[in-house]
Amino acid sequence: MTPDVRPLVAGNWKMNGLRASLDQLKAIGEGVKGPLSDKVESLICPPATLLYVATAVVTESPLAIGAQDCHTAISGAHTGDISAEMIADCFGTYVIVGHSERRTDHAESDALVRAKAEAALAADVAAIICIGETGDERKAGQTLDVLERQLRDSVPDGATAARVVIAYEPVWAIGTGLTPSAADVEEAHAFLRAELIARFSSEGKSIRILYGGSVKPGNAADLMAIANVDGALIGGASLKAEDFLAIYRSYETLLA
Ligand code: PEP
Repeated sequence: MTPDVRPLVAGNWKMNGLRASLDQLKAIGEGVKGPLSDKVESLICPPATLLYVATAVVTESPLAIGAQDCHTAISGAHTGDISAEMIADCFGTYVIVGHSERRTDHAESDALVRAKAEAALAADVAAIICIGETGDERKAGQTLDVLERQLRDSVPDGATAARVVIAYEPVWAIGTGLTPSAADVEEAHAFLRAELIARFSSEGKSIRILYGGSVKPGNAADLMAIANVDGALIGGASLKAEDFLAIYRSYETLLA
């Protein structure tokens, strides 16, 4: 946690979710109602096909809805893509950019991720910018070098705490059930915090740094308690309302 920073618990549904999944979304929307929502922000990023209907399902809830990717352009001949303006038009308030699956599956570079984040900010959509080392990079002792490069090259100069969130997601921890040790998470987040402050001065003190990679109800409290961990980006465990809410509620004790 970071003093005076409101954590964000975010779910990334990836390419999962049909209309029937809206029941889970509704349950999450109901579950995050209550006093904890003043202290902890919650977000689900369903697939683009459910974006508009998802925002309609949670109008009475503090749960925010976001998208998983956007194009760098506002509109145009880009078959299959969606723009940040379209996300805003569906009442989406966040977009994930630079997820490792996009970096790998679509060969997205840091420069492209940065341009996507810039497009999001221009459309008044907050960007969750994902960074993280691969297993090979960690074994080679390159973790902090990779984080330094990705943070420098993927994050726009106009980043502010209200509009940009960093998600540190070790690639080898995503969907594997593996997590780094608490000491490794602490080291990575402390490094990122120092880099953010060096680049964005006092604003860098409150830019949220989420941890992502096999966050589950059973390990969330320990991970969220680590210094400079300002919430979670959750893949698999965000698909079930019960699991997402258990992770969200780990803040009940942490913030008591
Ligand atoms: C993710 O894809 O962002 C992620 C963290 O997935 P999981 O929680 O399933 O590891």
